[in-house]
Amino acid sequence: MAKENDLMEKIVSLCKRRGFIYQGSEIYGGLAGTWDYGPLGVALKKNIENLWWKRFVLDREDVYGVDAAILMNPLAWEASGHVGGFNDPLVSDVKTKKRYRADHLLEDAGENVVGMDLAAMTALIKEKGIKSPDGNELSAPQQFNMMFKTSVGSVDGSDTIVYLRPETAGGMFVNFKNILDTFHPKLPFGMAQIGKAFRNEIAPRDFIFRVRELEQMEIEYFVRPEDWEKYFNGFFDEQMAFLTDDLGLTKEKIHKIDVPAADRAHYSKHSVDTEFDFPFGQKELLGLAYRTDFDLKAHAEASKVDLSYFDEESKERLVPHVIEPTFGVGRLLLAVMSDAYAEDDQGGEVRTFLKFSPKVAPVKAAVFPLLKNKPELVAKAREVYTALKKEIPQIMWDDNGNIGKRYRRQDEIGTPWCITIDFDTLGENADLLDTVTLRHRDTGAQERIAIADLAALIQKGIRA
Ligand code: ATP
Repeated sequence: MAKENDLMEKIVSLCKRRGFIYQGSEIYGGLAGTWDYGPLGVALKKNIENLWWKRFVLDREDVYGVDAAILMNPLAWEASGHVGGFNDPLVSDVKTKKRYRADHLLEDAGENVVGMDLAAMTALIKEKGIKSPDGNELSAPQQFNMMFKTSVGSVDGSDTIVYLRPETAGGMFVNFKNILDTFHPKLPFGMAQIGKAFRNEIAPRDFIFRVRELEQMEIEYFVRPEDWEKYFNGFFDEQMAFLTDDLGLTKEKIHKIDVPAADRAHYSKHSVDTEFDFPFGQKELLGLAYRTDFDLKAHAEASKVDLSYFDEESKERLVPHVIEPTFGVGRLLLAVMSDAYAEDDQGGEVRTFLKFSPKVAPVKAAVFPLLKNKPELVAKAREVYTALKKEIPQIMWDDNGNIGKRYRRQDEIGTPWCITIDFDTLGENADLLDTVTLRHRDTGAQERIAIADLAALIQKGIRA
């Protein structure tokens, strides 16, 4: 365990040092469960989101993108069951008053809590004599609603309580009729959204794994009830393809978990979670749920708006059923980061590098002049950099320190290729005119390549 914690510490420290992720409001001592993304974190996050959007929206004809408001009419969250049932079991330390997740404390004590209700957890905590991490008695578990509340309106007493959405799904269900009316899609079809969601987690932990402000990528895919299983299985395969082919995650670290009935969300009739071997253990990465017609029916009833679908061919009216693939962007980023983290020995020195697949790498290639103080080298390097950047925006310029230092820096941020412009590039050796040194991150191997071939080589790597 010490080794695993060590790895997480190294990842958190690298994320800060190299500008991926900083503690939220750090200069004020932070705010638990919030993290800020720096330039490289944003780039990595956007690459993950763009790959997702490409696979699940752009490359298909049947999925419609939306970007709904975070604040919604509170009736929507009553109808969806979140006001009544979006709860986590909470216990508190009777002395320090610190709050903990009852299920997490039991899991940490080696207990299996799958399918366990509040009464069973209470009994088990008593039976096993489970204490708080500070060694004190615990209160009896009680349900805690995880939705953040705020209010709209400015006149005293006229405020309305609204919720920060706990999942992006709601914004899609309330737009179901809009999509039907404007695009007239035929079943099956889906809606997709990337956006922020908020959960008042009792105990945020494990860096960006469990946070209070998170980003989700979700699809609500509407099908005829009899077809649900076929599309459910199809989406499972697509989720796996996204993780391995797009993000480059190691297949052996990905696990399929059938969620038992008692552990499923209140709206789900069948759920399959995908777990990943994070440095702190095997944990949920993303989910897939068969939400039946629960949401459309509930919203239709509460809003009094007809949310059924009319099949022109069979002249039949029905409420479609829903398959929901759901992805947490932060967890995906942490999976990519921890899977890519590597160290090796280079001439007796430990080298840290991130083995990002070129598709997700925040910087695809870095361009250097061999020497910073030779104007002719700098001018040629700038020319190569500018031309490449026009075709591939994620290219970085670096002329700080010696070449060895620049390689280390680029290795640490996972840049797949470094390109050095030297005197041979300028024609000192006539045979090598307009060629550069191309250095490969993982092996450190170097080769000579024509400037004219650079863009195609990088593009091929990004597409592969
Ligand atoms: P967990 O059991 O880990 O709390 P969940 O089953 O409640 O997660 P879902 O409601 O299925 O999660 O949410 C869909 C996805 O959103 C999750 O698979 C995960 O990737 C992400 N997610 C959920 N809660 C958080 C959180 N607090 N921090 C970061 N990501 C989250």
